[in-house]
Amino acid sequence: MKVIETIAEMKELRLRLAKPVGLVPTMGYLHEGHLALVRQARVENSSVVVSIFVNPTQFDRREDFKQYPRDPQRDLALLEKEKTDIIFMPSADEMYPPPFSSWVEVGKLAERLEGASRPGHFRGVVTVVAKLFNIVQPTRAYFGQKDAQQAVVIKRTVADLNMNLEIVTVPTVREPDGLAMSSRNICLSPEERQAATVLYRALCLAQQLYSQGETNAQCLRQEMTELIQNEQLASIDYVSVADPETLEELDKASPPALVSLAVKIGNTRLIDNVVLK
Ligand code: AMP
Repeated sequence: MKVIETIAEMKELRLRLAKPVGLVPTMGYLHEGHLALVRQARVENSSVVVSIFVNPTQFDRREDFKQYPRDPQRDLALLEKEKTDIIFMPSADEMYPPPFSSWVEVGKLAERLEGASRPGHFRGVVTVVAKLFNIVQPTRAYFGQKDAQQAVVIKRTVADLNMNLEIVTVPTVREPDGLAMSSRNICLSPEERQAATVLYRALCLAQQLYSQGETNAQCLRQEMTELIQNEQLASIDYVSVADPETLEELDKASPPALVSLAVKIGNTRLIDNVVLK
């Protein structure tokens, strides 16, 4: 396993990598969710590159960026076990040397849901992902269904800009009680950790109500909202039942609608989703 910190070295090494090449972009502080992406990349490709980069341009609050959990030594040990070929770990200066000034803008898709709550978030995400694609030139890149809108937005960009790779989406990995694994879960106190199960409970409620015949999307949003409001430590950012491609809110729910939510538990903002079956 090689750890690479410069773009020049990464590009040079890429020329000698066995193809196909799978790329797993991450912000580090790895958990089983990330490792599921790495394992799938390992099965489907001859070489696996994992990037670890806490991307400053996708955080709307400087504090959030500074407080994002980091543990590179532990990450390297986990990736070694997964037989990762290359870890690309550039610094912020390496990725954004002055006078950096070009951005990838995604339009409407990036303005809904997460984009509405976190202005500029997807501009930062898609720009850094486009840079990683140019540097690593992967055959395939792996993204988690946990960040459903991110996967939709990146697929849109890849199609719109004729990028030469396949985007693979990997199912969400959950804790035994349903909480989606996230690097941010470490920020929850024991009481908040317990309260955080409300996200998945609300998503399951929507699926259950739909299975029992409720197709009114507003009713589904309302029932989820009431369930979450019963949890004292939770405050809702959004609750959505949307078209899985356009991300527009639906009047009538039907599979494969994207049921998603963002909820703050104490000071920690968590997101999760299910695809209606
Ligand atoms: P992050 O480090 O949070 O930027 O995540 C890196 C990648 O891992 C993204 O494509 C995420 O969607 C994915 N990911 C994060 N958590 C999970 C999870 N619980 N299950 C599956 N994929 C995940």
